[in-house]
Amino acid sequence: MKIIIVGAGIGGLAAAVSLHEAGLRDVVVYERSTAIRGLGVGINLLPHALRELTELGVAETIAALGVAPTSLSYFNRHGQRIWSEPRGIAAGYRWPQLSVHRGRLQLALRDLAEARLAEPIRLGHRLVGVAANPDGTETARFATEDGEVEATGDVIVGADGIHSALRALRHPAEGAPPWSGLTLWRGVSRIPAFLDGRTMIMAGDGEQKFVAYPLSEPDQDGRMLVNFIAERRAGGTGDADWNRSVDPGPIAELFRDWRFDWLDVPAAIAAADEILEYPMVDRDALAQWTFGRTTLLGDAAHAMYPNGSNGGSQAILDARTLAFHLASAGTVEEGLAGYEQARRPAMTALLAGTRATGPERVMQLAAERAPQGFTDIDEVIPLAEREKIAADYKATAGFLPSVLNERASLTPQAEASR
Ligand SMILES: Cc1cc2nc3c(=O)[nH]c(=O)nc-3n(C[C@H](O)[C@H](O)[C@H](O)COP(=O)(O)OP(=O)(O)OC[C@H]3O[C@@H](n4cnc5c(N)ncnc54)[C@H](O)[C@@H]3O)c2cc1C
Repeated sequence: MKIIIVGAGIGGLAAAVSLHEAGLRDVVVYERSTAIRGLGVGINLLPHALRELTELGVAETIAALGVAPTSLSYFNRHGQRIWSEPRGIAAGYRWPQLSVHRGRLQLALRDLAEARLAEPIRLGHRLVGVAANPDGTETARFATEDGEVEATGDVIVGADGIHSALRALRHPAEGAPPWSGLTLWRGVSRIPAFLDGRTMIMAGDGEQKFVAYPLSEPDQDGRMLVNFIAERRAGGTGDADWNRSVDPGPIAELFRDWRFDWLDVPAAIAAADEILEYPMVDRDALAQWTFGRTTLLGDAAHAMYPNGSNGGSQAILDARTLAFHLASAGTVEEGLAGYEQARRPAMTALLAGTRATGPERVMQLAAERAPQGFTDIDEVIPLAEREKIAADYKATAGFLPSVLNERASLTPQAEASR
């Protein structure tokens, strides 16, 4: 079975490695960029993604790139704690959570894919068309520097991100990703370690927010590399480009009053070498991913807001699920149907949950009920309500510890021997 993957991002590269490990060895990856430069800032991989990377045998390589946060805490815009929960192993998972630089993760996955695949990644190939052939195969057309080239496969996987060309070909009326009206500014700073040096924090509410998590251990001076996302409702176009660089100064000024006794937010923003501006956009849920023998994966299928830290993890789950079904099913069509059935309804529910602010709902409730702050959070949001919000999101995203720890493996051989 020849499989063409379009896009060498996190999802496409994870799919290439997953298909290879599942015994599907005739895989070729096509990428629009002329070089994989490992762009971006931080990304979180949740325990459900670490489980898949572990079962793929690559978790040690990936774990060496980042740090594992042991807790996640939510605060209001006055720096008061609303909710805190253990994460990863500390929360009872068999696998950790991992905060990692997106670019380093992409380069590591590229190296793993290149070491395994028979064919090199075809760079400088931008998908522009697909057509089904009478024998059931599909032919992809790519624009290159030297003109158009074609490639024919039994399956074409569109892992080409939020602006997916394959998605646009299949859903031509859809248009640009809808914008929430919020703008995100992402950066990395070296700042004094905060809290226990292993906590991911979110502070603020639906209008303005600051998220930060360590990307390194504290050094001898007690400073650590921290990824942050500053977010605010602001003017702009909603035109999503991951590489738009802006000056940190004016962004730090927007947060000038956010000096908590445990974190100086404007100083953290001002310390960034570079800040990347990105509108908070996502995609509407689709009624169909698979057309003939083409399907979608990762952001191409279900780009979501970053508030649950789930986009990269869900792309990895897609990759492993696709490999499992293609390797286990009797026919290509059954394999693609099994993949879509396993993933699309779950992602439809997760997109809705993420638009409803996901686990950050506790921050919104605290802002609505106690805009000036509180003396006792239990009087504002009772413990049971906070616990339910956290558990409901995990259930929707497929990472309740009890469920994730026990569910069957997506490794085809392991499944066959059960
Ligand atoms: C440059 C960049 C920076 C990012 N930075 C961050 C970040 O800092 N933090 C974060 O949480 N998330 C970031 N993301 C998004 C995050 O990587 C994804 O949400 C998630 O990992 C899902 O991965 P994906 O493979 O589905 O999509 P992506 O990682 O977006 O990968 C899609 C790939 O497809 C390629 N492609 C696009 N169109 C075509 C085409 N027509 N033909 C061939 N190839 C095509 C792209 O060049 C890209 O390599 C970034 C994405 C990109 C592309």
